[in-house]
Amino acid sequence: MVKQTIQIFARVKPPVRKHQQGIYSIDEDEKLIPSLEIILPRDLADGFVNNKRESYKFKFQRIFDQDANQETIFENIAKPVAGSVLAGYNGTIFAYGQTGSGKTFTITGGAERYSDRGIIPRTLSYIFEQLQKDSSKIYTTHISYLEIYNECGYDLLDPRHEASSLEDLPKVTILEDPDQNIHLKNLTLHLATTEEEALNLLFLGDTNRMIAETPMNQASTRSHCIFTIHLSSKEPGSATVRHAKLHLVDLAGSERVAKTGVGGHLLTEAKYINLSLHYLEQVIIALSEKHRSHIPYRNSMMTSVLRDSLGGNCMTTMIATLSLEKRNLDVIKRLQKEIQELKDELAMVTGEQRTEALTEAELLQLEKLITSFLEDQDPESRLEVGADMRKVHHCFHHLKKLLNDKKILENNTVSSESKDQDCQEPLKEEEYRKLRDILKQRDNEINILVNMLKKEKKKAQEALHLAGMDRREFRHSQSPPFRLGNPEEGQRMRLSSAPSQAQDFSILGKRSSLLHKKIGMREEMSLGRQEAFEIFKRDHADSVTIDDNKQILKQRFSEAKALGESINEARSKIGHLKEEITQRHIQQVALGISENMAVPLMPDQQEEKLRSQLEEEKRRYKTMFTRLKALKVEIEHLQLLMDKAKVKLQKEFEVWWAEEATNLQVNSPAVNSLDHTKPFLQTSDSQHERSQLLSNKSDVNARKILPSPCPSPHSQKQSSTSTPLEDSIPKTPVSSIPLTGDSQTDSDIIAFIKARQSILQKQCLGSN
Ligand code: ADP
Ligand code: MG
Repeated sequence: MVKQTIQIFARVKPPVRKHQQGIYSIDEDEKLIPSLEIILPRDLADGFVNNKRESYKFKFQRIFDQDANQETIFENIAKPVAGSVLAGYNGTIFAYGQTGSGKTFTITGGAERYSDRGIIPRTLSYIFEQLQKDSSKIYTTHISYLEIYNECGYDLLDPRHEASSLEDLPKVTILEDPDQNIHLKNLTLHLATTEEEALNLLFLGDTNRMIAETPMNQASTRSHCIFTIHLSSKEPGSATVRHAKLHLVDLAGSERVAKTGVGGHLLTEAKYINLSLHYLEQVIIALSEKHRSHIPYRNSMMTSVLRDSLGGNCMTTMIATLSLEKRNLDVIKRLQKEIQELKDELAMVTGEQRTEALTEAELLQLEKLITSFLEDQDPESRLEVGADMRKVHHCFHHLKKLLNDKKILENNTVSSESKDQDCQEPLKEEEYRKLRDILKQRDNEINILVNMLKKEKKKAQEALHLAGMDRREFRHSQSPPFRLGNPEEGQRMRLSSAPSQAQDFSILGKRSSLLHKKIGMREEMSLGRQEAFEIFKRDHADSVTIDDNKQILKQRFSEAKALGESINEARSKIGHLKEEITQRHIQQVALGISENMAVPLMPDQQEEKLRSQLEEEKRRYKTMFTRLKALKVEIEHLQLLMDKAKVKLQKEFEVWWAEEATNLQVNSPAVNSLDHTKPFLQTSDSQHERSQLLSNKSDVNARKILPSPCPSPHSQKQSSTSTPLEDSIPKTPVSSIPLTGDSQTDSDIIAFIKARQSILQKQCLGSN
């Protein structure tokens, strides 16, 4: 293969609003090198770009306009690279662009439609198809999936790990042997014998990536992901094995995070992202310069990993994804203007020009104010810092710091005290903490569910109001907001139809048990949480996509089933035709013998007819079989998309749940009232003793952890926000639920919820 230069393509993402007026133009004639010109209105250029150029021109190998579909991208960009990998050369395809410009869409694909599948699934399909066609060699395919975040590598395919954060995934490190070959320690390679197996691995990695991502660390936009297809080939009888790799890289967002004024953790990330993209740029520039001997691969993890797959004999392709929304430019322009106006207004009101940060002197002054505020014995004293949000924030930070320092000090004292008691106490501190945590979780569950119930009630009332139905009609037409039976049952009934057909349809392969393990996560949820999850799921926007895909899946299943039947018919028809032809031969021979004649040389017309029928049937069989094979891949893909959507839904539920729990902790009157020192209404002596123990041991700790967000009856009465509905709900103190283990607690909680539920439903129906 001739030495390749790096190919750079552009792909423009379709605008959210169709028919936007052009803010870019594509010039395809200019000496055969197409260029993309971005036109920036002059007034806007004045606002946030220092130089006053109105247009920016970039040259690309080829520019794919917004109409280019995934098939076109694959055919033109990925297929040639896959072809060269099949021929034994390494290859790399990068997607480079700002967050939201379509990198993941291009590399992996969209989450909704089968036709939106991206370069990875299409390449896998193509490669496996080609391998099947070529019987001259023995091929083996392995898959690996690596994520690089802040210069650390993580294995997305490690089956042993149930990652809940990126740090839980095995860390991948680079080792270099004396011959300067790169080895990746801890990166697992998985054998994939079929397209489906490889696809399963892709989805497993994507799911791991999604689960490992937390709202704090939006790793997907700040990390690089490298999906690698490792191909080895060997001629039968030969000992020489040829290796080739294809890396499909979804790069971190190319936005310059550092310029947006972030600090701390984010700044570290920004530095790493910008640096690693910068090093990649250096390598690519160095590779594109003729006569450059030194290529700076070692500077970053990514360039080290890709070292043997960039430049030289390798095919390296970059797709610059672009999101050219005029609206974005308009919004930026409007926001810039608004910020300036607000700044001017603020300066006028306060009489001072504000900078980004407070000065040292101002900070010192604030801390002095806080100290004297804390020392002031007067309960009416106030901490006055004026209407400057920077000062208010600083006060809170400082107070938090003081509080944390104090807690650490107290904890140390407590733990040294409790060490002396340990030998007498039958229960260890660890157990207490566990029990307290369980209790806290259950408290939260109850409260979140009660909140949900209230919302449900409100919704039902609104629906009633709107429809103006009479009560009888309402009872028949509305399904109860909570299913009283097993909450899963109804959902499963609807969900199960497609997958159960999948099992009936034996030709469909089994999906990866690894991915199933991920989906099975929610079986570990407590029942209370599952109830909440059901409602959350029902109201979630993604459930529409899931339902749509379920419909499509159903259609595909019936199509596949019908096709399967037709294939069987065709197969038996072929059998019959063959049988008939054989019979005919025998008859002819028998005739020849009996009449003492040679077998006629003239073609037998009847046999000709049978043969052409046979050929026709074979063709039909082949067409149907190919279609069935494609259907099978589509079904598999759709199922994986659905599984992924379900995991996403569950993850969003977890985030929502945690937020609700935090809100409850913050807003609960029990936390804020003085009552919080004794939130427990004990029902048994033993519990009383336990709680005594807890509060005796560490009053501070107990105060910190024990407060029940569920208000005590006493504080309820005082609460001005309490509604008659709330008052009529039996106020079972959560803490009176016996602590006999999770399942017992669960069933009690469910009984408790059911009680509340039925009251709510009665009220809901009765009040109308
Ligand atoms: P990135 O990975 O660069 O952050 P995504 O690939 O996640 O961006 O794209 C952002 C959104 O835009 C997604 O909802 C995606 O489906 C959609 N999108 C991106 N490119 C296209 C395209 N060419 N056609 C249709 N939708 C697209
Ligand atoms: Mg992305």
